[in-house]
Amino acid sequence: MVNINKRIYLENPYIKNITARVKDKSYKNGKFFLKLDRTIFYPHMSGGQPKDNGKIDDVKVLDVYEKNNEIIHVLEDNIIGDTVSMTINWKVRFDHMQQHTGQHILSTAFIKILNANTLSFHLGKEYSYIDIELSSISSNDLRKVERFANEIVFSNFNIKNYIIDKTQINSIPLRKKPSVDKNIRIIEIDSLDYSPCGGTHHHSTGEVGLIKIRKIEKHKGNTRIEFVCGNRALKDYRWKNSYINRISTLLSSKDFDVYKNIEKIFNENLKLNKQIKDLNNELLDYKIQYIYDNASSYNNIKIINKLYEKSDFNDLRYIASNIVNKGNVVVLFGVRKQNKCQILLAQSDDLNIDIENIFNSIIKIINGSGGGNSKIIQGGGTKVDNLKYCLKTGLNLIKIDIDSNKSK
Ligand SMILES: [Zn+2]
Repeated sequence: MVNINKRIYLENPYIKNITARVKDKSYKNGKFFLKLDRTIFYPHMSGGQPKDNGKIDDVKVLDVYEKNNEIIHVLEDNIIGDTVSMTINWKVRFDHMQQHTGQHILSTAFIKILNANTLSFHLGKEYSYIDIELSSISSNDLRKVERFANEIVFSNFNIKNYIIDKTQINSIPLRKKPSVDKNIRIIEIDSLDYSPCGGTHHHSTGEVGLIKIRKIEKHKGNTRIEFVCGNRALKDYRWKNSYINRISTLLSSKDFDVYKNIEKIFNENLKLNKQIKDLNNELLDYKIQYIYDNASSYNNIKIINKLYEKSDFNDLRYIASNIVNKGNVVVLFGVRKQNKCQILLAQSDDLNIDIENIFNSIIKIINGSGGGNSKIIQGGGTKVDNLKYCLKTGLNLIKIDIDSNKSK
């Protein structure tokens, strides 16, 4: 049977340190497992509020969990003696209380304003969320809920907790059904909200501080609400404020105008990018014509053999495809980029050079691999120093192939 008197955090969540008597101690896999006659450590449970951090007799508590109605403290070292002194990390506990109590307030605001139930709650390391039983929420409704939740905070209502039994359930307007059927612990926000819960909560709503909804998203047909409370809201506001200030300095504009100005820059950037792309294509067309016009011929077939430094391979592919479209030309390109290199071999449809065979012979020279077809083939390798030799060998093999085709 649950003896809730031993869970001090349920009676008074503000107690940061206390002494307790050791009931049982065991050792397994380098860790010590401690049961005490009372505890201020909130254990980890599935979902909801995370466990407390802290120390027992100056030994770090690695984990706290519940098993067979008892709370087990997992320690990294042994404890000497029958009485221990335990201390929780108050900063972490206070943060959990702010987020958890804030969740009660936000959930009741969704009920009061939109008549929408909370389906689940997750208290994360940075942000928390609740899933609300609504397929969509307008930004106007969201603002109303947020405003109402913060009015509950600013009204500084009392928060009470008490235990009821199953027979009393119907006399209380509970927001959700309890998960246990005896010793049901109720958290009441001043006649406004009644919720069965085993977590740690503030004694008044004002301690929660600002409740801010950060963003919403659709989740399994419902709406997931990400929010922060108290110190987390301050932290969130602080970095956003700093970003807005930095952006407004960068743009030499007022903070209220930054979005309008960023939007303008963004649209200008889209326009400029399109212009650059058009100009680049125009330039490539000139390059294609220039390369083609200046290519040397071998047995009346144009051969273009070029080594590029740091060129964009997609551009080279575009150049090669357009050159071979002109007919009666074979192209062998190489490009060097730091410790990698690539080659591309292509020929016009009216030619019959065995470029796959040539490619397979020369790709080994740069310790590479690749693939393609009988008209265009490409690959990359790592022996950058051999690229020049690779292209020279390729050129010779192309000439040999042209000669052999001619003799057939
Ligand atoms: Zn709660």
